[in-house]
Amino acid sequence: MQSCGLNIYNIMRRLLIIIAMLCVYAGSIQAGTKVDRPKLVVGLMVDQMRWDYLYYYYSDYEEGGLKRLLAEGFSCENTMIPYIPTITAIGHTSVYTGSTPALHGICGNDFFIDGKAVYCCGDSTVRSVGSNSKKGQMSPRNMIATTIGDELKIATNWKSKVIGVALKDRAAILPAGHSADAAYWWDTTVGHYITSTYYMDKLPKWVEEFNKENHTAPNFDIRDTDQGVTMTFKMAEAVLDNEHLGQRGETDMLAVSVSSTDIIGHRVGTRGPENKSVYLQLDRDIAKFLKKLDDQVGKGNYLLFLTADHGAAHNYNYLNEHKIPGGGLESWKHVKTLNQHLSEKHPGAGDLILGSHSLRYYLNYENIEKAGLDPQKVKQEAIAWLKKDRRFLQVIDFEQAATAPLPKTIRERICNGYHYGRSGDIYAIARSQYTDTEDSPTYKGTTHGNWNPYDSHIPAVFFGWHVKHGSTSRPTYMIDIAPTVCELLHTEMPSSCIGNAIEDIVE
Ligand SMILES: [Zn+2]
Repeated sequence: MQSCGLNIYNIMRRLLIIIAMLCVYAGSIQAGTKVDRPKLVVGLMVDQMRWDYLYYYYSDYEEGGLKRLLAEGFSCENTMIPYIPTITAIGHTSVYTGSTPALHGICGNDFFIDGKAVYCCGDSTVRSVGSNSKKGQMSPRNMIATTIGDELKIATNWKSKVIGVALKDRAAILPAGHSADAAYWWDTTVGHYITSTYYMDKLPKWVEEFNKENHTAPNFDIRDTDQGVTMTFKMAEAVLDNEHLGQRGETDMLAVSVSSTDIIGHRVGTRGPENKSVYLQLDRDIAKFLKKLDDQVGKGNYLLFLTADHGAAHNYNYLNEHKIPGGGLESWKHVKTLNQHLSEKHPGAGDLILGSHSLRYYLNYENIEKAGLDPQKVKQEAIAWLKKDRRFLQVIDFEQAATAPLPKTIRERICNGYHYGRSGDIYAIARSQYTDTEDSPTYKGTTHGNWNPYDSHIPAVFFGWHVKHGSTSRPTYMIDIAPTVCELLHTEMPSSCIGNAIEDIVE
């Protein structure tokens, strides 16, 4: 009896083990059929959106727009830009590559590559699609890193669709990446959306139809109006409708950037009724866009992030009225006077400075070589001359930036922003609240580009799929956004990513 009981016990035990193994096996099949990903990723960049605009206009925002993102999403309250200069093309590239100019190669809107002037997206090998102007001679070829969208496409064997939309070409092209299906931007000369032969030879029928219904008179700059915000979201919604993003059984990506906030901000500064008006328009359009995503893709089925490419300084005249120091730098005038100074030292050598962008000065190596001069000597002469201007805190030799007598965080940002052969040779760091704008008691506008918090502290709000509600005040960086999104998507990070995933946001 005893041995029989043992046998039954053994049989039962084996049966239970087999059942348990079958359950595990079945479970693994179920879990392994498809990687858990959102239906759609939406990147929403607001050009020139200072972090404090989330709160400065808070009481005027609707419930369904920016307030909803904060109320339901996760806000990284201390997100900084970890490089200088803080400029549009660089910001858009750095968010989507998780990298900095040192590695992704986009060093400004305009810069020089080995002495040749380039526009960040300029590409003479392609032509406009949708107009006969040169506004479509654009591609992402100067960018030498992959983006979130490129990695998503690689991970899904190119089944994902990735599309970029913005009024500014660079704000549509760089976020969409190299392998994008399309990027659409606004050609002001014709008053509608265009693209380039980099992506396609002909506009899709639906874009032609969209342009028929949504256009302006030629040369009217809609980008400098509140309607520019609405025209951006209208196109984003048309992409959702016609390309069925997030509704195809594969994870897609839509990169949207709002350009009008920057163009208006440059003209009127960070305060006043016009700035307020464009942010309230943005808020209303975001509310409508979120509702569209809820209806079309489903609440919780999409992952969205909101951020900015840079902030902006307050207008110095506005600050001066309240005894806060500040002023304009007019750096474009330096190149001429610096060249005059150097030509007195080296008569007949021609211009020894090629140009400047965002307080970075480029040596003219061709003329330096022709005149048989030592570039290091010319560089030191130029630095000594620039240092006489006390609106600069410091003027440094880029190649010596790592040992410059500056706080570590600024040295790091200079190195992160320096790309050999593209960034120039000398960098000037301005005193706080000194903007590279005209210097006049009637100047009303603003700009950006420096390391200071007003230019480098940006919103970073995650919302939707697997994002919990909350916020963190621990330091995070613009370049952390890409690895965070890639971790949620279970895709590899972009090829030159040096950021870290922000694990706090995950539900
Ligand atoms: Zn910008």
